[in-house]
Amino acid sequence: MQPSHHRCETVVIGAGLAGISTALELLEQGRQVLLLDALPRSQCGGQANDAFGGMLLCGTPEQRRNKVQDSPELLLVDWLRVAAFDADDHWGRRWAEHYAERNKADVYDWLRQRGVSFFPAVQWVERGNFGDGNALPRYHVAWGCGRGVAQTLVRRLFEHAGLSCLFEHRVLGLEMRNGAVVGCHGRSGAGDFRIEAEHVVVCSGGINGDLARVRVHWDPLYGPYPENILNGTDPRADGALHAQVQAAGGQVVKLGRMWNYAAGIAHPEPQYPQHGLSLIPSRSALWLDASGQRIGPQPLVGGFDTHDQCKRIGHLPGQYGWQLLNWRIAIKELAISGTDSNPHFRDRKLLPLLWQLATGNRELVRWMVERCPDVLAADTLAQLAEKMVALTADGRLDPDLLGATLARYDAGIRRGPALYNDEQLRRLQQLRQWRGDRVRTCAPRPILAAGSGPLIAIRTRLISRKSMGGMLTDLHSRVLDAHGEPLPGLYAAGEAAGFGGGGISGIRSLEGTFLSNCILNGRRAAQAIAGHA
Ligand SMILES: Cc1cc2nc3c(=O)[nH]c(=O)nc-3n(C[C@H](O)[C@H](O)[C@H](O)COP(=O)(O)OP(=O)(O)OC[C@H]3O[C@@H](n4cnc5c(N)ncnc54)[C@H](O)[C@@H]3O)c2cc1C
Repeated sequence: MQPSHHRCETVVIGAGLAGISTALELLEQGRQVLLLDALPRSQCGGQANDAFGGMLLCGTPEQRRNKVQDSPELLLVDWLRVAAFDADDHWGRRWAEHYAERNKADVYDWLRQRGVSFFPAVQWVERGNFGDGNALPRYHVAWGCGRGVAQTLVRRLFEHAGLSCLFEHRVLGLEMRNGAVVGCHGRSGAGDFRIEAEHVVVCSGGINGDLARVRVHWDPLYGPYPENILNGTDPRADGALHAQVQAAGGQVVKLGRMWNYAAGIAHPEPQYPQHGLSLIPSRSALWLDASGQRIGPQPLVGGFDTHDQCKRIGHLPGQYGWQLLNWRIAIKELAISGTDSNPHFRDRKLLPLLWQLATGNRELVRWMVERCPDVLAADTLAQLAEKMVALTADGRLDPDLLGATLARYDAGIRRGPALYNDEQLRRLQQLRQWRGDRVRTCAPRPILAAGSGPLIAIRTRLISRKSMGGMLTDLHSRVLDAHGEPLPGLYAAGEAAGFGGGGISGIRSLEGTFLSNCILNGRRAAQAIAGHA
């Protein structure tokens, strides 16, 4: 059978947030687009449909209403310090500068004009262990979560007559002529297809859903590749097109840079091998190693430095840790990243959300205790230790050490705030100064205090999530060849491009830099194609 043949001005491969943003910008500029995805139309939006929807933004009205005075200059200083770019990260750094300068106008305003709004309280994530992360609160949660953002844009997309779509079409390779990319080919349920296009934009996502690839590119900075790693990304985000871009002469760089998380737990209803959930870890929990000893000497406290957390968990014996807490802490502090784990954000239900913030999320914790194999609960520490021993079956836990660790921490709390001499307690006090964190951080009370509900232990391990390296692109999202020259006809955006320049975040992110850069990358590709760059 002859392959079906299509001709178009621009083909966008991948209908995730990067692809949608590229296509929408082109359509709004009056151009024709063919949008293509391996998945059915119902899954248009890609991983953004699962994302929590947090975006790092600066200079917004939400920040001003929260009395946060931010600026592109301040953001860039933080970004450059955290990213720790290498000398050869020229384009990653250029994209970072561009993002700092343009995020308000080209992401925030653009989204607002298209019907996306943000939760009024700005969160302060990734402050850094030594005040060396975000100097200010910048994490804006999209009202409706990642899915709300994606579906708002998808609705706009389908209003345009200039859009053609091919869903359930998997691209297998790029078409080349005289050194230029002139289309792509692949397979669908109906047979093989070939597409001729003047411009090809690759928005096929990252590699982190494919644990075999994660293993190949694993950076030993995080310890040996963990055999117990969980997968927090759809396995269809397999990075297969990275090799095709390389075969066409495009550079793919720094795939060892990943944004993984340290508080993964096994999914109770796994949809694929090693399917995990990424906890937003409790700050008041004691984070212990496999023996029951506190991870230290600097205690591990969630939300300050994800990169450091991953390194430390990755180097522990057994490459896992335990969060030890009680019911009172759990209902206030525990959360799971993602759209469906945050139904009030997803469904834009303000009053139920405020009620939940004030009184705690009992439903989530009950579900976790009843369903998640890594979440254990018991009335006494001895019973809890028994369950921990049974779960790991590796003989590492020392129940006496566990008891002594907890007793020492609780004794410090009982002495009262004036005598706090523990880094975690100092951080909890600081967290409670910021309104956005205060609602999700308990006032310190001994973990074994009477009336705090059952004790809870959560086994946490590394979970794969985002690729921070990828196709090397310039500020027009053009893919660059081995000489650093644009490969004619080829563009890349979103996670496929390491969110710009093959690595806009360097070795670590300020968090929430992913969705927003899908939009910026995609819009830049479209503007270059439309001649408005
Ligand atoms: C649970 C979860 C929570 C997250 N929370 C946040 C958050 O709060 N903030 C944030 O900034 N980021 C977050 N992220 C990350 C963010 O969602 C992703 O980085 C982003 O959505 C990637 O978008 P993309 O368009 O580049 O790629 P994807 O969404 O992966 O889309 C790629 C598309 O390309 C298609 N495709 C791939 N290969 C082919 C092929 N060969 N042929 C045809 N089609 C192909 C795929 O089917 C897919 O639809 C989260 C991710 C997850 C999983």
